[in-house]
Amino acid sequence: MNLEERFWSFVDVQSKNDCWEWKRGKTTAGYGEFCPGKKSGLPTTVYAHRFAWSTDHGAIPKGLYICHRCDNPSCCNPGHLFLGTPTDNCRDMIDKRRNAYGERASSSLLTNRQVLDIRNRYAAGGVYQRDLAAEYKVNRVTITDITRGKQWRHVGGPITKRRSCKKT
Ligand SMILES: [Zn+2]
Repeated sequence: MNLEERFWSFVDVQSKNDCWEWKRGKTTAGYGEFCPGKKSGLPTTVYAHRFAWSTDHGAIPKGLYICHRCDNPSCCNPGHLFLGTPTDNCRDMIDKRRNAYGERASSSLLTNRQVLDIRNRYAAGGVYQRDLAAEYKVNRVTITDITRGKQWRHVGGPITKRRSCKKT
């Protein structure tokens, strides 16, 4: 097992968007601590999230910080980590990025529970997509994608192909 393999064996690797918890020792502030071993040439103990970031991006430029987009100190998901300078306020950057992310990807605005509710209510009938869109504060297209199963297919719930027009 090489160093990186050993490192990842200590991380609870989940799907792309989830937090990946460090399973070993943590500092009192909750940051994971990794002991890379003498042969690595690294310090005896390194922060797990810093090591995680460097497995994706290479060495961390001197004096720079690794910040958590998810605000979870023990998280080692490289997708939740970003490089910050000491003059950046990490917290501010987290807020900024979170907002930017929310606008870019409407999917992040809805929980699985809400997606299920939307599908169930739409399949039951008597509610318009535009009303659901207003209620959940998303685009109508998003509602269409949800009810037709184009997005969030993994969440389950009834998929409505097209509202049937009952001829009387
Ligand atoms: Zn995370």
